[in-house]
Amino acid sequence: MAQGGSKLTAEFNEKAKASLGKFTRRQVMELDTCAHCGLCTDNCPAYNESKDPLHAPGVRSAMAVKLYDRKYNFLTRLFGNTEITVKDVEELSESAYHCTLCGRCMESCPFGFQTHELWTRVREIVADLDGTPVNVGRLAGMLEENMNPYGLDPDERLDWVDYTDLDEVPEKEEAEVAYFVGCTTAFKGANHEVAFSIASILDEVGEDWTVLGEEEWCCGNPSLLSGDEHTAKEYAEHNVKELERRGVKKVITGCAGCYRVFRFEYPKLLGREPNFETLHSVEYLRDVLVSGKLKLEATDEKVIYHDPCELSRLSGVISAPREALKYLTNNPLEFEEKGIDVRCCGGGGLLQAVNNDMRLDIVSRRLEEAVEKGADILVSACPACKLAFTDGVRERGFEIEVLDLLELAARQLGVF
Ligand code: SF4
Ligand code: SF4
Repeated sequence: MAQGGSKLTAEFNEKAKASLGKFTRRQVMELDTCAHCGLCTDNCPAYNESKDPLHAPGVRSAMAVKLYDRKYNFLTRLFGNTEITVKDVEELSESAYHCTLCGRCMESCPFGFQTHELWTRVREIVADLDGTPVNVGRLAGMLEENMNPYGLDPDERLDWVDYTDLDEVPEKEEAEVAYFVGCTTAFKGANHEVAFSIASILDEVGEDWTVLGEEEWCCGNPSLLSGDEHTAKEYAEHNVKELERRGVKKVITGCAGCYRVFRFEYPKLLGREPNFETLHSVEYLRDVLVSGKLKLEATDEKVIYHDPCELSRLSGVISAPREALKYLTNNPLEFEEKGIDVRCCGGGGLLQAVNNDMRLDIVSRRLEEAVEKGADILVSACPACKLAFTDGVRERGFEIEVLDLLELAARQLGVF
């Protein structure tokens, strides 16, 4: 960010004007008509933990409109302050990144404001104004070098195969089905068994399937979450080209973020629908269980399901995991806040890179409730959720097992 007290240069202010002009007409209307009723704030998992007004979504929209008005509102430009300061950028950044992008504010807003898109646009503006938090900025460098946000060599993408009981995974030039593993599953040890489970189930069902191996790049979600649509588009083009080149008809991913991006962001980024269907692994599991292609014995253990925000609220996949769960346990449990109204686990929005204590506070609420309800196992359907829950159990001392839904299925299958 520019140095020199709180004043920024005239050149920077011109850049800020161009950047604030990225708000669409609908977004400006939303910012202008926000009633500051606070309903979104009441339901915000981030604000509920910190109680810091800067983290309240209603305050974020007020800050954004104040800056927009300094550059575009006729009366403000005639009679008011038109300068943007270092403090303005720092506060907007602090607010924008103390958010898991869970979308609950969107569900709470009586005017139906599309806050998920709004907050992503605010992050894009923060990036233009050089206000992206240092740790989030590092992700961009690692993505550029290694095509994943963990800075690991692309040839380590299939290391999970060596760490599990799988002999090998197919890397074919042509296949009906592709398993898109996703970076947080491929590179994070706590999720290697998730990849192993999905691979084992695809083998058990007898699918003609493949992985992309080193040709799998990040889906683009971290870039979108840090306001970098340009990089996300590059990754979308690459992944879709590699999948279509292999004639893939069905892409299966176990990651809620990859799923949302493939289903809803890729068509916007590419300007067309890919030539394949995208399924989340819980949808695939439900289908093979219902059709009888996969037969499992249900456990008597009490299993509670946590909806990943990106899968449920932001993608509408709510019934499939519950239908699948009926085949896996005789004792399914539910959280009070679930489905479209799920309370975030804290694992999204790159919050971990900015404030891991807040992430652990948020996940502890879910863990407390799961334990109070007597659950033996907490299952979810997203590697970021699994990491948040396993970190919460380890760091805050909860007594509960954490699994992905597909891991529970693979366990019932007897593969581990
Ligand atoms: S997206 Fe979630 S964390 Fe972010 S402001 Fe809205 S409710 Fe809060
Ligand atoms: S719920 Fe909607 S109208 Fe109310 S403060 Fe939040 S964004 Fe504004």
